[in-house]
Amino acid sequence: MAEHESLEFGKADFVLLDNVSMEEFMANLKLRFEKGKIYTYIGEVVVSVNPYRAMNIYGRDTVEQYKGRELYERPPHLFAIADAAYKAMKRRNKDTCIVISGESGAGKTEASKYIMQYIAAITNPNQRAEVERVKNMLLKSNCVLEAFGNAKTNRNDNSSRFGKYMDINFDFKGDPIGGHISNYLLEKVQCCMFCLVHQLLRGAPDSLLRSLHIQKDPTVYNYIKVGGQIKSCINDGADFKAVADAMKVIGFTGDEIQTAYKILATILHLGNMTFGVDGDVTLIETPKLVSVIRELLSTKEENVEKALLYRTVATGRDVIEKQHTEQEASYGRDALAKAMYERLFCWIVGRINDIIEVKNYDARIHGKNTVIGVLDIYGFEIFQNNSFEQFCINYCNEKLQQLFIQLVLKQEQEEYQREGIPWKHIDYFNNQIIVDLVEQQHKGIISVLDEACMNVGKVTDEVFLQGLNGKLAKHAHYTSRKLSPTDKSLEFDRDFRIRHYAGDVVYSVVGFIDKNKDTLFQDFKRLLYNSANPVLKGMWPEGKLSITEVTKRPLTAATLFKNSMISLVENLASKEPYYVRCIKPNDVKSPLLFEQERCRHQVEYLGLLENVRVRRAGFAYRQTYPRFLQRYKMISEFTWPNHDLPSDKDAVKRLLQGCGFDHDVAYGKTKVFIRTPRTLFSLEEQRAEM
Ligand code: ATP
Ligand code: MG
Repeated sequence: MAEHESLEFGKADFVLLDNVSMEEFMANLKLRFEKGKIYTYIGEVVVSVNPYRAMNIYGRDTVEQYKGRELYERPPHLFAIADAAYKAMKRRNKDTCIVISGESGAGKTEASKYIMQYIAAITNPNQRAEVERVKNMLLKSNCVLEAFGNAKTNRNDNSSRFGKYMDINFDFKGDPIGGHISNYLLEKVQCCMFCLVHQLLRGAPDSLLRSLHIQKDPTVYNYIKVGGQIKSCINDGADFKAVADAMKVIGFTGDEIQTAYKILATILHLGNMTFGVDGDVTLIETPKLVSVIRELLSTKEENVEKALLYRTVATGRDVIEKQHTEQEASYGRDALAKAMYERLFCWIVGRINDIIEVKNYDARIHGKNTVIGVLDIYGFEIFQNNSFEQFCINYCNEKLQQLFIQLVLKQEQEEYQREGIPWKHIDYFNNQIIVDLVEQQHKGIISVLDEACMNVGKVTDEVFLQGLNGKLAKHAHYTSRKLSPTDKSLEFDRDFRIRHYAGDVVYSVVGFIDKNKDTLFQDFKRLLYNSANPVLKGMWPEGKLSITEVTKRPLTAATLFKNSMISLVENLASKEPYYVRCIKPNDVKSPLLFEQERCRHQVEYLGLLENVRVRRAGFAYRQTYPRFLQRYKMISEFTWPNHDLPSDKDAVKRLLQGCGFDHDVAYGKTKVFIRTPRTLFSLEEQRAEM
């Protein structure tokens, strides 16, 4: 609890509120925001409000103020959390993680970057060249990932369209020696493409554009104009060079970078490709583009043409080539563009991982290599129209909330119970029931969706919805138009609603089946695998299989996402977690405006009030009796150098009574619990004076 700040800035820790009510919470949050204090604690959780202006609080001098200090010694700051996570890792050899959540534009990615900068700033005091190299790579990798995975949306000019989890590995000295990145569900591929392609068009040298057969004028390209308008993008132009340089520094080869450009160019050209019919033959109306794409993909013209117009199907033992209709060909073309982009992105992440992976570290010689993980992942999304993407994102948030509940709320309560400490039970909503609604085998929404996708007959979104209604009619958190016909929020026949912990969200089933199947005809995979460009070929290993060998259905998008969420949560659960909860103060990117309702809603669905309640009922510090004595026995005549009391517990009691702290502690079966950090702080001071 930071108490060194003047009270005119409000309470630096929500735990210090006089009453834990929404009104007081909001009043404090607002006051601090208006006073320019964007960070506030709830115990060890940082609540951050996006200032939407440059703050002079991330410089070298600030780093020095937080370095190695305890959380409650300095005003709330991201750096304090980063330092706490770092200290826990270094002193106690624990893997830690920092989970950053909040809605789009709330400041998650910025926060993750400040945390990384802080860690980079406080490590490697000896300036070891290898460590400097690793740090540089870790920081540079951000720039590349952002270039390929961010987009301008109406909520955020630089919105991350992928969730990112980054592990930073440290050696026994506490210096970074490598890392690993996992990415989750790249969404709105189209928008990312816009931005990147803009950079390419504006920033690339003419010679490069010529070699890619690309014109500088963006209006020529269908994929980057929507309704005749060119989508604008903040960081075009100047950034092209920065990205290209960053890729080089990280260690991408010239061929790899060239291939990335070629893929982008191919995507642009694909967007301009049109199909027509002549009698019962589907044909390509833009043959010139076929030859351009052939060149870019280092393959044969007839292969490109065939992949665009036909698909190979196995019927029993026979393999036949079936011609696409014009519509199918267009669908295939768009699917190819999207898949190429997604694959490029995943490949880039993979390459970065190869490069930053820990090398030459032998734990037998150097001791355990520890990890700090940083998770920057999209928060809850409730839009006017919610589809498959929002469904995945909101499911992800249910999972993270469940983890938070388990770790912070449940574990706390259970420990007090175990220790026999009187505990006022705190009611909180356990969202496991919603997690089950989505992910349970056979009955969950994802299972129903996968089943619908496996139907051989006509697979439609409606079939999926019928399946949901059949299986989930009685579920307290599910309903649909059919089940609640009088419900005004369910406007359309294709709507269903989930009662999320953060609120109700109505999803339209339109597009669920397509997005879940995420089919790319095998013919395209083969086309890319058979490229003479080894980099491109390497991205598409599954193209090796011939049609008769492709027997297993690939996992669906939802199932892949579910699996990745389950392993993410398992991973986080094995670490000591720190939380940053980001709040977006308004929808107009204003540094002045604190929109009460918008903020209140976020506070609600981040579960912050519950968090304060548990924290207040709880104790800031706990330690087993022997370890407590070990650390503090020198400050009391009764315990130094040894005590003659019947038990360590009695000795600790005696010690704390002697210091006048008895009122602030509780004695459990095996541990002593201290309520406020200040008590601990003064114990530390007395110890230092000895
Ligand atoms: P998304 O989920 O869309 O990726 P996000 O939560 O990652 O959103 P950011 O990109 O981190 O949001 O922040 C959005 C914008 O808000 C930034 O581009 C920046 O202009 C501003 N911003 C966020 N945090 C800060 C900060 N600490 N100081 C100054 N400006 C900030
Ligand atoms: Mg972001």
